[in-house]
Amino acid sequence: MKLDRVLTIVGAAGLRAIAQGPRIIERFALVVALLFVAFSSASFASQQPMLAFAARVAGDDARTRVVIDFESKPAFSVHYIGKPERIVVDLSATAFGFPAGDLAPRGLFKDIRYGTMGEDSARLVFTTSRPVKLVTAEVRQNEDRGFRLILDAEITSQPQFDAMLKTQDWGQSAAVPPQDIDPPVEDGVFVVAVDAGHGGIDAGASGATTKTPEKTVTLAFAKLLADKLNKIEGVKAFLTRDDDTYLSLSERVTVARQHHADLFISIHADTLPQKDIRGATVYTLSDKASDRMAENLAARENLSDQLAGYQVEDAKPEVADILLDLTRRETQAFSVALADNVVKSFDGQVGLINNPHRQANFQVLRAPDIPSALLEMGFLSNSDDEKLLLDENWRDKVASLLAEAVHRYHKRSVANGG
Ligand SMILES: [Zn+2]
Repeated sequence: MKLDRVLTIVGAAGLRAIAQGPRIIERFALVVALLFVAFSSASFASQQPMLAFAARVAGDDARTRVVIDFESKPAFSVHYIGKPERIVVDLSATAFGFPAGDLAPRGLFKDIRYGTMGEDSARLVFTTSRPVKLVTAEVRQNEDRGFRLILDAEITSQPQFDAMLKTQDWGQSAAVPPQDIDPPVEDGVFVVAVDAGHGGIDAGASGATTKTPEKTVTLAFAKLLADKLNKIEGVKAFLTRDDDTYLSLSERVTVARQHHADLFISIHADTLPQKDIRGATVYTLSDKASDRMAENLAARENLSDQLAGYQVEDAKPEVADILLDLTRRETQAFSVALADNVVKSFDGQVGLINNPHRQANFQVLRAPDIPSALLEMGFLSNSDDEKLLLDENWRDKVASLLAEAVHRYHKRSVANGG
């Protein structure tokens, strides 16, 4: 019961007692007793509930952020529950004063519920579509009004989620899980993410003659490339997908970041309306495409996932932009160096398109902190290229040359202290 309301009731009772005359003393004693009881129960019961006055959910199927605004600073604790995977956030008494639609499920969350648990507590339950972990769970002060609770969920593996369930202590908040749950990275090991384009329901392009889907060609090549890279001392390659499963563009980038990749290479073999065009192309990221062909290719690739990749959200926009800009510029220089190395390796050995290093706005290359390049090995729309793409010997040769390019790039970045 709120204190001001208690005082109003007690005050009114006292006034009535006084107005009623003769038994005023007893009555007033009763009022004082009432006042005492009411007062102590008011201080034992929860304080006034915190008002949560606004909420929002943003992100995609690899990273999803929830932000809830509170009038006063919220205390909270986080736990995980399995089968189905859920994140539970316990709060002190909270009045949820925002429209239910503000916490409509999206991204990794397939259901979001919240409400009062008892007089002193409230709970938020996020049911997720797959194993997740919170990489951020913190309260920050708003500039204009109150505080905001920020929860960033990111995809994780089933074994990692199970490990979190086992190690969490319900007496203590799990908040942000211990970072060593992530696979440890050995010092000095150069980690390369090899990304086989497309997969699952997204078959990509198909061969002009054989109709072989692009997803099959890219996976076969990616496996070969990873094998060759893993034979180089100091280099460790992994595949973003190693079977015929669908991965969103954002998931590919998130998986690369979770493995602490130093380099990201996406493998493709697309089609063009101009069937005579053939040869390999290396793409790096740019908001402005180098030419119409590059622009169209990127637009088609991005259809696979219209949502952005890694996003830096919620920092002050101007700060985020400057930091991101600096990181991007450095990363961009490395990406271009990688592309130059690839073109150099291929020159005279593998058929290249005119101007073989091109730029376009490929979503899958958007990690601001990982140098990234996309290799179009050739075009499945050209029947000569198709023959090569399906030829194991040719693939083996291209994979060797590409691994050499990565090795050379790595040696140079070590020499430069990068
Ligand atoms: Zn493709």
